[in-house]
Amino acid sequence: MGIAEEEIAKFENSNCEENKVFYQAMEEVIYSIAPLLESDPRYTEHAILERLVVPDRIIKFKVSWLDDNNKIQVNTGYRVQFNNALGPYKGGLRFHPTVNEGVLKFLGFEQILKNSLTGLPIGGAKGGSDFNPKGKSDFEVMKFCSAFMTELHKYIGPRIDVPAGDIGVGGREIGYLFGEYKKITSSFDGVLTGKPFFFGGSLMRPEATGYGAVYFTETMLEMEGKEPLTGKVCTVSGAGNVALHAIEKLQQLGAIPVTCTDSRGTIYDARGVDLDLLKDIKLKRRASLEEYIQTHAEAKYIPVSEYPEGGHAVWDIPCYAAFPCATQNELTEIDAQNLIANGCQSVTEGANMPSTPEAIEAIQNHGLCFAPAKAANAGGVAVSEFEMSQNAAMSRWSFEEVDAKLKETMQMICKRVALTAKDYGVEGNYVDGANIAGFKKVADAMIAEGI
Ligand code: NDP
Repeated sequence: MGIAEEEIAKFENSNCEENKVFYQAMEEVIYSIAPLLESDPRYTEHAILERLVVPDRIIKFKVSWLDDNNKIQVNTGYRVQFNNALGPYKGGLRFHPTVNEGVLKFLGFEQILKNSLTGLPIGGAKGGSDFNPKGKSDFEVMKFCSAFMTELHKYIGPRIDVPAGDIGVGGREIGYLFGEYKKITSSFDGVLTGKPFFFGGSLMRPEATGYGAVYFTETMLEMEGKEPLTGKVCTVSGAGNVALHAIEKLQQLGAIPVTCTDSRGTIYDARGVDLDLLKDIKLKRRASLEEYIQTHAEAKYIPVSEYPEGGHAVWDIPCYAAFPCATQNELTEIDAQNLIANGCQSVTEGANMPSTPEAIEAIQNHGLCFAPAKAANAGGVAVSEFEMSQNAAMSRWSFEEVDAKLKETMQMICKRVALTAKDYGVEGNYVDGANIAGFKKVADAMIAEGI
């Protein structure tokens, strides 16, 4: 039994249905860091893995709120404060019906290593609720956010824990959450990031994750001796914050993103996605992507019911580079085989863990570049930390300043990941490089800080 199998065996009991995605994330990290554990016994002696995979605390609370029909609704709220060895807990809030403790543990665990990779002083956390903002009025979303913050405010603070957005939590929700925090505490603190610009947000925070994923890809392609994105057809999944801004940056670079998806279907527009229309549908009207073809009859809409079995229509469309930017496990082994067969050269994870382990294996075995989420989508949390810095100093950075720092950060992460992979004998493997580099920094801090 190798060191990775020995470590994984210690956590078999936690592999229950609810913990499935958490276990998936944990197993990937353990396999990746095996060369590090073998080369330095301190990590095993200090039981770093045993300590790292258990959150510092999980806060779970009831959220009661009144809907527009004056009916009382009850949801569950969570904050998983995972690890603060490197700085205050930091990570987004997700509002989606699929949210449970296991999903938030997976996201929080990934966040520890992602935040470590940025080189910035931030720990890892995640939170959210099974509340579904879809179909709710602005007033209902506000009432839910107020009720959620009534409980959450006890556990957060600018030097304690600084939540941000994620699926279902954008500028509107962050605004309502911040308003309630301020009311309860009478304090105008930088306690949430992703705030609208006019009351303390950073310029470029909305763009940061999508832009960052594209900056990472540019650097990776260059380092791996592949052609740049300019003029190349790209496929993107999702139609939310990350996807919209990945599409925007790809277009700015002269690439041709031809797809987007939501939970109901896929748009394929061979001439290139009409971003203004997409923003109008998703950001202004919060409507279904199906509306895209009302004005663009030449584009194709593929509903979920017509997806290939075990796969996703979007990954069956030929492309040079693919950007999964919607949700976890949305790119399966079948999808990976389709991408490979169609000549795709690079896959970048904009979403958190969008590729299954089997898909990653197939992609890497066929020599495609593969940028894992914890490195490629770290631009969002990096700019969140820039927002914390600006709030603490009561200062404002220009769009160009933030963009330059973001680009520099993404290039730095990419190079560091590639270099770490080389140092540990797995050159070109960005998954292992990211896991080893992210883990090492947190583990060294944990050893230095004692038990
Ligand atoms: P949004 O809520 O803005 O958008 C999510 C998109 O994914 C929507 O188009 C949504 O479709 C689709 N989607 C969500 N769940 C599913 C599902 N179960 N099946 C199919 N489609 C789904 O979220 P973000 O863009 O902010 O986040 C997307 C991903 O990126 C997540 O994995 C998130 O954790 C990750 N991420 C986000 C960061 C950020 O800064 N926002 C930072 C780092 C990672 P529909 O419109 O129908 O709901």
